[in-house]
Amino acid sequence: MRGVLCDDCDKWRRIPATLADQIDEKNCKWTCKDNNDKDFADCSIPQEKSNAEINEELEISDGSCEDDARGAFLKSNPNQSTASQQSS
Ligand SMILES: [Zn+2]
Repeated sequence: MRGVLCDDCDKWRRIPATLADQIDEKNCKWTCKDNNDKDFADCSIPQEKSNAEINEELEISDGSCEDDARGAFLKSNPNQSTASQQSS
């Protein structure tokens, strides 16, 4: 797993490393709504862990034993403007 910072709310979300690599490569925006983990796929959802905890985890989890290959969920078009749902 890797960490990625939401461009909207500046929260850290944990995402699969493969996905993080793609974001790095494209240098594209990433927001909570792009999260495949629906439990954390909205800016209104609190960050899973504190920044300190995440830093710690990212430092030691590089090359971890957790080999949960869910496959790469490639997004063909990250440029859709999301003007749907949500206004409370
Ligand atoms: Zn967010």
